[in-house]
Amino acid sequence: MSNVPVAVVTGSNKGIGFAIVRALCKQFPGDVYLTARDPGRGQEAVAKLQEEGLCALFHQLDIDDLQSIRALRDFLKEKYGGLNVLVNNAGIAFKVHDTTPFAVQAEVTLKTNFFGTRNVCTELLPLLKPYGKVVNVSSMVSSSALGGCSRELQQKFRSDTITEDELVELMTKFVEDTKKSVHEKEGWPNTAYGVSKIGVTVLSRIQARMLNEKRKGDHILLNACCPGWVRTDMAGPKATKSPDEGAETPVYLALLPSDADGPHGQFLSNKTVRTW
Ligand code: NAP
Repeated sequence: MSNVPVAVVTGSNKGIGFAIVRALCKQFPGDVYLTARDPGRGQEAVAKLQEEGLCALFHQLDIDDLQSIRALRDFLKEKYGGLNVLVNNAGIAFKVHDTTPFAVQAEVTLKTNFFGTRNVCTELLPLLKPYGKVVNVSSMVSSSALGGCSRELQQKFRSDTITEDELVELMTKFVEDTKKSVHEKEGWPNTAYGVSKIGVTVLSRIQARMLNEKRKGDHILLNACCPGWVRTDMAGPKATKSPDEGAETPVYLALLPSDADGPHGQFLSNKTVRTW
């Protein structure tokens, strides 16, 4: 078993995830895993970094597929005896003018962005070594979508006692409400991506609380962040930040020094803690 520290970035064959891997290859003192659902696209991305003189390793990971997540978990357990850094970056967004019915957009978006990310956490967080770091890539859209929720929902999502089961129930209810076309009446905003990212931010707050309760003394820091508006296939060419600039806040959180006692359980953008 290797004692080398290990970092994993989900959805990193392109976009912000790829830029996060590039930065970690330069700064993280250990093995860095570029992961992708499609091995061809993943290996191509590793080769691109190799041309830049950077050495990333590859492992397949489809966050929609529990078997794939568990295969990565078993690999990390066996080869490294755990995990030091996890960046949950993989995500999807329908384009604004996409005509796919809203209920389908809601189901598909929540499946990857919330439920997929949660499944990765369920399987990989127990592997975290002391002083480990977790970064969940959310979005400022989670804050604006929160503002568009009913007062009752806002209260639930801001609660310091909401449980993971309750959050899952709410995310499931959103999808069900869109199918019945009652989501607005039920207090939801009209954005599937926004609700999925509310899920990611609130999940991060819950997970940080659980780490405080269950692993106090292990100095693990877990946060959610927004990378900014970044020129990728998701956001398009008009966005203001390059992928390398978008990687800055996630990488800052992934590389917090071992003597840092925060941020933890926070939502950040531009390396600054934002009010939730
Ligand atoms: P992107 O260029 O579309 O890249 C998304 C990455 O996620 C791709 O590598 C994609 O793989 C992967 N992915 C999607 N579904 C996956 C799955 N089921 N399993 C594994 N990987 C999967 O988007 P991006 O702009 O870099 O976005 C990265 C993250 O930042 C997302 O969470 C996004 O919501 C967030 N974000 C982006 C912006 C922005 O302005 N760009 C702003 C705020 C937040 P494939 O190549 O196989 O599709």
